[in-house]
Amino acid sequence: VTAAGLLNHREDFPILARPIRGQRLSYLDNGATTQKPRSVIEAEARFYEQSNANIHRGVHWLSQHATELYDQARSTVRAFLNAARDEEIVFTRGTTESINLVAYSWGMDNLKAGDEILLTGLEHHSNIVPWQLVAQRTGAIIRVVPVLDNGELDQEAFQQLLNEKTRLLAVVHVSNALGTINPIAEMTRQAHAVGAKVLVDGAQSVPHGVVDVQALDADFYTFSAHKLYGPTGMGALYVRYDILDSMSPWMGGGDMITTVSFEKSNYAPVPQRFEAGTPNIAGAITMAAAIDYLMRIGMQRIADHEALLLDYATEALLAMPGIRIIGTAEHKAGIVSFLVDGIHPHDLGTILDMDGVAVRAGHHCAMPLMTRFGIPGTARASFALYNDYADIDALLGSLRKAQKLFGVG
Ligand code: PMP
Repeated sequence: VTAAGLLNHREDFPILARPIRGQRLSYLDNGATTQKPRSVIEAEARFYEQSNANIHRGVHWLSQHATELYDQARSTVRAFLNAARDEEIVFTRGTTESINLVAYSWGMDNLKAGDEILLTGLEHHSNIVPWQLVAQRTGAIIRVVPVLDNGELDQEAFQQLLNEKTRLLAVVHVSNALGTINPIAEMTRQAHAVGAKVLVDGAQSVPHGVVDVQALDADFYTFSAHKLYGPTGMGALYVRYDILDSMSPWMGGGDMITTVSFEKSNYAPVPQRFEAGTPNIAGAITMAAAIDYLMRIGMQRIADHEALLLDYATEALLAMPGIRIIGTAEHKAGIVSFLVDGIHPHDLGTILDMDGVAVRAGHHCAMPLMTRFGIPGTARASFALYNDYADIDALLGSLRKAQKLFGVG
């Protein structure tokens, strides 16, 4: 921890030492994906150098060894989310695949014509489109909790929308576009009171603070490893055991059965039932290495660090002329979305890039939310444990340059 109260881990991340366009890299696109610490990169190499074999099917030593590492990775995720049992953790390719798994397995079995799926105006496309596909097939109806002007969900409208037909609330924990932290425990309590299940998209919450699926009382909770300092193509889905155990397979293949004949197959217990085929073994083990790295630092310290950065950036942006922050919720994670008068977010992103400042510009896969605010998109700076005030100063300096260049502000 530095004098300013910030964490100091930039040196753990080899890519941050690489100059971009001849400049120090200020990587502020962590909502899209995070960089990887050396320990994670080495864990992947070590797996392929020392432990690579297929799991669950070999009698030989290496296969058993790889299986043990894979099983340990599941325990690591369980502990990280404070789930009750290892069997509640399904390995997936990430948030998108997890939500599709729930939609096609739980959704197809449990939704019928007239049932209601409650989404919110803050959702990422990956928590909208799978439900539309399932609604088309089942006749279920999608309802949407509106968003207030400050980027918070309208809790009164939420309570009015809940009714005995609501089968599922599918809600993002932290908005990737605005940073809003939703009151999940309270929303879950209310949804459960009408008999609905609750799916939480944790893609942007798991990397930024402590998540306890039991305290939240979520039925489904998911995240992506690549936003958590881990590998791409990997993620996890938590499902409460009794629900997961009742769910039908989604994909068929090897490793998810106990017996197969041409007449009938019997399915493996969970979670194997949902992990057909050779899984991303290296991905699971490398994801666990990322979680180990984070547990050593502490998620609460990471949350505190990012809160300092968010305050610093927000104050500075508010003090600049011609800048409008979209999303001013009381509870926000380390994400700031903004518009600069007279400069399109894409042009802004391109100018910032010239100074080595990486931000996201666009609709952030949340088009309905952009429509709600009547904007095509925003520029978004999203923070990670390795960011510091110098990164934000670089952003601010580059923004001033952009305003000069465009003769605005
Ligand atoms: N939900 C949210 C809130 C996200 O930010 C993202 C990634 N931008 C996703 C879902 C989808 O995650 P992935 O692309 O890793 O499946």
